[in-house]
Amino acid sequence: MYVELKNINKTYGSYQASRNVNFGIEKGKLIGLLGPSGSGKTTILRMIAGLETPDSGEVIIDGKVVNDVPSSQRGIGFVFQNYALFRYMTVYDNVAFGLKVQKADKKKIDARVRELIKLVGLEGLEKRYPSQLSGGQRQRVAFARALAPNPQEIARALALQPKVLLLDEPFAAIDAKIRQELRSWLKEMIGKLGITSIFVTHDQDEAIEVADEIIITNAGRIEQKGTPIGVYRNPETAFTASFFGQPSVLKDADDFHTFAQAEGADK
Ligand code: ADP
Ligand code: MG
Repeated sequence: MYVELKNINKTYGSYQASRNVNFGIEKGKLIGLLGPSGSGKTTILRMIAGLETPDSGEVIIDGKVVNDVPSSQRGIGFVFQNYALFRYMTVYDNVAFGLKVQKADKKKIDARVRELIKLVGLEGLEKRYPSQLSGGQRQRVAFARALAPNPQEIARALALQPKVLLLDEPFAAIDAKIRQELRSWLKEMIGKLGITSIFVTHDQDEAIEVADEIIITNAGRIEQKGTPIGVYRNPETAFTASFFGQPSVLKDADDFHTFAQAEGADK
């Protein structure tokens, strides 16, 4: 497993946001973290990124326990839920920001920034400001910026890409039609780059379409993990069945004689 969470617990005051969270992600996979608002998805991402410390348990990346490794040295690209571009900077400068902070060689920065802008399909828009872009284009700038290496890693290699890409509801603020386009674009791009990625969403259609595997969160717990079709066909809990599909609920199973009553089921 490339990214692994082992027995993670996290409380905010008296509220337990993560309850014994365990899962592993294989290298190069795109995982969808799917659950209702408040179920602990962002908390999980923040602990992987090192922006939050678990109360107990281990975060492992590439075989190494990283609990004590600072965020900047974990090799993680993070697209935040409420992404904010620098309003007074052009597309180019937004993408170049992390690289410039490091005072790296100008030519190398320029090459990397152009490469990233091309990757996200924004060639020709380098000089625009965020206010002159559509919602979808702004999101692409945010992606490109997240893909630029962390400043601290530049010493190792300027062209280095993050080892793990975390995307927290990246399309939440974007209208339905563009969202559709961005989903396939995201899947294709991540496939091409081969970066291990976690994509958070509360939209089941989005998770099904984008993710290789889905992890369902509920009240700080992991309810189930599996392929979209696997989870859909075999929900292990009532919660998963109700969240991942449009179930019909029969209040008293005894009233319904066509099927044998499922063992232990009261609904
Ligand atoms: P999600 O991303 O699934 O919507 P979060 O991980 O953001 O959920 O939050 C999980 C729970 O933890 C929520 O009930 C939220 O209010 C609470 N929470 C998150 N961050 C904090 C914080 N810094 N202080 C207190 N409570 C928090
Ligand atoms: Mg969240």
